[in-house]
Amino acid sequence: MGATLVWLRRDLRLSDQPALVAAAERGEPVIPVFIHAPEEEAPWEPGAASNWWLHHSLERLGATLENRGSRLILRKGASLDTLRALARETGADAVFWNRLYEPAVIRRDSDIKKALRKDGLTATSFNAALLHEPWQIATGAGSPYKVFSPFWKACRAQGIDSAPAVTPERLATPAQWPHSESLEAFGLLPRIHWDQRLAETWTPGEDGAMARLDGFIEATVRDYGETRERPDQEGTSRLSPHLHFGEISPRQIVRVLQEAGLGLDAGGAEHFVREVGWREFGHHLLYHFPHTTDAPLNPRFEKFPWRESAEDLHAWQRGQTGIPIVDAAMRELWQTGWMHNRSRMVVASLLTKNLRMHWLHGARWFWDTLVDADLASNTLGWQWAGGSGADAAPYFRIFNPVRQGHRFDPEGAYVRQYVPELANLPTDAIHSPWEKRRDAPTPPADYPAPLVDLKQSREAALQAFKALP
Ligand SMILES: Cc1cc2nc3c(=O)[nH]c(=O)nc-3n(C[C@H](O)[C@H](O)[C@H](O)COP(=O)(O)OP(=O)(O)OC[C@H]3O[C@@H](n4cnc5c(N)ncnc54)[C@H](O)[C@@H]3O)c2cc1C
Repeated sequence: MGATLVWLRRDLRLSDQPALVAAAERGEPVIPVFIHAPEEEAPWEPGAASNWWLHHSLERLGATLENRGSRLILRKGASLDTLRALARETGADAVFWNRLYEPAVIRRDSDIKKALRKDGLTATSFNAALLHEPWQIATGAGSPYKVFSPFWKACRAQGIDSAPAVTPERLATPAQWPHSESLEAFGLLPRIHWDQRLAETWTPGEDGAMARLDGFIEATVRDYGETRERPDQEGTSRLSPHLHFGEISPRQIVRVLQEAGLGLDAGGAEHFVREVGWREFGHHLLYHFPHTTDAPLNPRFEKFPWRESAEDLHAWQRGQTGIPIVDAAMRELWQTGWMHNRSRMVVASLLTKNLRMHWLHGARWFWDTLVDADLASNTLGWQWAGGSGADAAPYFRIFNPVRQGHRFDPEGAYVRQYVPELANLPTDAIHSPWEKRRDAPTPPADYPAPLVDLKQSREAALQAFKALP
């Protein structure tokens, strides 16, 4: 009798799991496997926050499988060698997995598929991560989209499949399980314990993802159009790390919204699904323009005169720029592993425009610190913010962080939460403590003066842009 290896990667769930369903349908023992081989997947090592999440997500998945009489086999090493070894040890005659879309992963997975088939095994992959895979959406001329609105229109015109794969009732088990390494051997948890705040903020795993979605639908989604822009409120779903690790699928999100009676054609639910569409757009762009992880989508930016300053970068990373909304956001990231989307745009604008530093510095820092660090969404976000990417955010549109602060953190609550040095400033001074005002207390001595003059640096950035060939 044969067996089926289900090679789990960033699809760490049992529901809407097409690879697992197909394996169960074969009626042979199913062996779920996770292989730790981060160097095969992205240009950079995963950051500590991302590793923390992965550890807990694997722990949860292992426990869920054990509750169903199955197991999660953990291995470290080159993926192909490990799959071959496992197939030999277990007598497996098939390997199933769900697809990922980063350039290095696509190369690796297609090599693995060919090699396994050459070995005489069945090797099959499925879509578990996207509503529409990158090659399913194209312009009338057959080319990829570079602008979000027509991309999303085309996705909606194709329709959204919201029928999640049915979770198998039972997984047949092998007579003998292969050896599994311990999760601790992956070394994913930080050696110095800074992760208490992460543990208080997040619940990695499939149940945590569904609980977050349910809570969001109950409390927030109807007003999402207004609340989503406010970093001082819990106005978004915070599902991004769950989506990145595949603890929940976009299909499940759509299905749960529909079951809650929320129409996808208008209102908060429509807006929310459209944001999930941005995630799809990131995958579409990365698939069709794989060089954009480190080179500009718009080649005009190849010659942009970026500045280098280790000191300015350090001040930005640590939330010590002297610009309150930027510092609040960078400290939110450091403390919680997450940052609000509005804040991501504001800090990215300051780094790439006012400080005129290469967007890759920012992308790398986000990669190191976000729990939701994701090559497709991060590349999209940084290229967009830096002006060299897809869609309508031209370089000359430069955010004014003081105005952004007054508009999206009107009471200053976000700044007060993350920059306690400024907690006692009156609201009209909190976003620009350097400005002289009658009766306003002087800014605290332990808070830095602004790193740049916002007006002058804006002009300098515009000049540099105009001078581009
Ligand atoms: C400079 C920059 C870097 C970014 N880096 C990442 C990253 O590494 N990983 C990541 O998941 N997102 C990234 N984003 C996108 C966005 O900020 C986050 O997805 C969002 O803030 C996550 O919060 P949420 O789950 O509450 O979002 P919600 O508003 O609840 O949206 C629901 C889901 O839609 C998707 N989504 C929403 N907005 C975007 C967007 N602009 N681009 C792509 N997907 C989106 C996410 O999967 C999100 O979980 C980045 C944005 C910028 C401007």
